Amino acid sequence: MWDLSAADGNDRPNDTGSALGTRFLIFPQVPHLAGYEKPEIVWVSTPPDRLRVGPEDDRIYVCDPLLDKTPYEFPDLPPFVGTLYPPAQAGPDGHFDNIDPGSREFLAAHAYASVRRVLDIWESYLGHTIEWHFADTYQRLEVIPWIDWDNAQSGYGYLELGYDRDPAGGAYPYALNFDVIAHEIGHSILFSLCGMPSSSIENGDFAPFHEANADLISLISFLHFDSGLDRLLRHCSGNLLILNELNRIAELTGDRQIRVASNSRRMSEVSSDVHDRSRPFTGAIFDTIVSEFHARLVAADLSDPRLLQIPVQEVNDDILGRITNLTAAAFTARPFLFKTALIEARDVVALALVRLWAHLDVDDIHFTDAANLMLSLSDGRLRAALRENFTWREIL
Ligand SMILES: [Zn+2]
Repeated sequence: MWDLSAADGNDRPNDTGSALGTRFLIFPQVPHLAGYEKPEIVWVSTPPDRLRVGPEDDRIYVCDPLLDKTPYEFPDLPPFVGTLYPPAQAGPDGHFDNIDPGSREFLAAHAYASVRRVLDIWESYLGHTIEWHFADTYQRLEVIPWIDWDNAQSGYGYLELGYDRDPAGGAYPYALNFDVIAHEIGHSILFSLCGMPSSSIENGDFAPFHEANADLISLISFLHFDSGLDRLLRHCSGNLLILNELNRIAELTGDRQIRVASNSRRMSEVSSDVHDRSRPFTGAIFDTIVSEFHARLVAADLSDPRLLQIPVQEVNDDILGRITNLTAAAFTARPFLFKTALIEARDVVALALVRLWAHLDVDDIHFTDAANLMLSLSDGRLRAALRENFTWREIL
């Protein structure tokens, strides 16, 4: 017989199990998106004995105002003082994965866990703690999981989350939207790693560069969900370029990260709008993940080497058909090896981004200079793929 009581015992706080961190539930995509109705169990790095009700730890605290709160706007800034809803509490085992996903407390737990998860992922790439860029003023990030506002914002020392509206008038709390939270924390990570320009943030490509990289932080963070990776690969039978086609016919509505990243915009096709101008860089990095993924499939004998001759930037039915011919049967037979290849491609590109951010001159960011810097910090196959993709996007 299996001794289940011994396994249960490992989950108690303050025993050896606490070194694993703490369990939370996170929706990899918004829960109203088909296929994502169930949250995934995720371990965040803070152990149960260092997590308090709220939840809060030494980096982040959630406070949920009882009465309507207006969005922060200078000079009204954190910390929030006022009456709060009862905080989210851990179960008797010290973990937060037993909270009812329909409850108010779940918003608090989900918002906390999403922020902590994104930090964990990027601290893992860096190999060290990411200090908050506002650490001189505030020791911790304040997270407001719900305000009656159809928007979300992150500012100096805070993240506050309202709701998103769909065309039918439904309201979806941003506290359950991992993509939006990861994008906002992405900006915080970039401010921490790259710094703040000494002059205006409107100089050069600073603002669109920030948007592109916050989107990439969100995309790469999403690609750390086991269920997210499985669903993505099954959706396209291992041919990531099909996602571009699916985006066009809006089958993936809700998968904003993929929709934004697998775009086909070149610099000559975008306006000066910050989000529009960010698209070619985001697309070039997504294409580089695809190039690396293909290279790994061929190296692992999961596809014919002819796959490497097919361009990843320009997608049409002929190209999609050729790629599917070279990958679909192998994907059906060996899906987990495809997943390994995608994970490796994701990590190679994420590490290249981290190197870029560490070397940027934030006072003078232009996409062309950032692309050249990224090339100079890379080598071999990755460098060749980046050069090809930046050139196609007219960034180089
Ligand atoms: Zn943004």
